Amino acid sequence: MLYYSTTNRQNTATLEQAVIKGLAADGGLYVPQRLPRLPKAFLRNMSAMTLPELGHAIASFALQGDVPTDVLHEIVFESMDFDIPLVKTAGGNYLLELFHGPTMAFKDVGTRFMSRLLRYYSTRHPEWTTLNVLVPTSGDTGSAVANSFLDMPGVKVYVLYPRGAVGLIQKAQFASLGRNVTAIEVNGSFDDCKILVERAFLDDELNAAMRLTSATSINYARLIPQMIYYFWAYVQLANSGVDTSNLVFAVPCSNLGNLTSGLMAQRMGLPVKRFISVENQNNIFYNYVKTGKFTPKPTQYSIAPALDAGCPNNFGRVMELLGSHENICRHIHAYSYNDDQIIETIQQTYREEGYLLDPHTAVAYRAMKEDVQPGETCVTLATAHPAKLKPLMERIIEYPIAMPRQLSEFLKSERHVLPMKNGFTSFKRLLLSNN
Ligand SMILES: *Cc1c(COP(=O)(O)O)cnc(C)c1O
Repeated sequence: MLYYSTTNRQNTATLEQAVIKGLAADGGLYVPQRLPRLPKAFLRNMSAMTLPELGHAIASFALQGDVPTDVLHEIVFESMDFDIPLVKTAGGNYLLELFHGPTMAFKDVGTRFMSRLLRYYSTRHPEWTTLNVLVPTSGDTGSAVANSFLDMPGVKVYVLYPRGAVGLIQKAQFASLGRNVTAIEVNGSFDDCKILVERAFLDDELNAAMRLTSATSINYARLIPQMIYYFWAYVQLANSGVDTSNLVFAVPCSNLGNLTSGLMAQRMGLPVKRFISVENQNNIFYNYVKTGKFTPKPTQYSIAPALDAGCPNNFGRVMELLGSHENICRHIHAYSYNDDQIIETIQQTYREEGYLLDPHTAVAYRAMKEDVQPGETCVTLATAHPAKLKPLMERIIEYPIAMPRQLSEFLKSERHVLPMKNGFTSFKRLLLSNN
């Protein structure tokens, strides 16, 4: 199957080319020419499958034989070797906990899948030189990508993060690794980090000297496995006898990758009535839904740092899947909340329902409560473990919270950080001298 660029449909690529490049050369995002619809019988029989079995079946349908089935089996089973439980709060609301992977945020699923797919492609190309993965991060992407590619032969990872703006634990998750991971502390903002990476992809001299790729959600490989857990939520509801005929998902959004995956799952046949997209004060998509105008803005920092995006990368894919502003409004209800509202929601939910929401999940949970109608079943995607922002969470609920072992391990090791000026010349020099 071919993938076309959202900028120009004539520019097509194979799955391998799309995954290796990330962004199309014309600046567009790759979209599959066709997403197959799952047979009705498949939807009925899903309930007997385990999570990785379901994942393998759905990925096989989606990729249409472009990756051999035994290879895909290994990739999926390796990237989904942790639980994704659906929990019910004391208030009777459902949360799908996507944060039980190695770095305790939902991005583990997508980045592990992507890293293993790239590993497969590199075994087919022994002539390849080192692949350099460049990631700007406000916290979660850097740690998920770094941990997914850690010690992978033939790969180097460069994580760029804004000085002073990434949490202690999040930073430890990528800056304590060393080996093939370089953490670059940029004396600038998150937007500056993004711009440095974008310029690198377009720089002829750099591209002639080294192979570069992106591991943010512009890479289609991240979206495939993210579809799977929407189906998994459906399976878990159905298996516990809950009515799934009016199913709604509330999704905390930043670059809209998670939401795009949900829309793809719906396109493949998952019966979803509506999505609720929820942003923090960086409410670019919310404004688009309300006004029909897409206006990126500089990123503002918030207490939900993984939602801080002033220009949502996957907007082009959402447009491509739904076609028009009118249709987007029909499928998606949009919300946006500020820091005070996030704090209020965390405190209230902890007090009244005994569930500790992290700040990212909190925005979606609040919107779910505002938007859900009688007779609907709504699942909120819980995207990060609250302990990832432990000092902040403890200030909010005024109570100490336990640190999972997975996270405390990262804090034990020394940090390896390269400080860098906010300038493309510095970045280029650093990359070339490391090459
Ligand atoms: C990345 C992230 C999001 C946003 O996901 P997008 O796919 O960028 O919209 C939400 N919550 C957490 C915890 C994240 O790390």
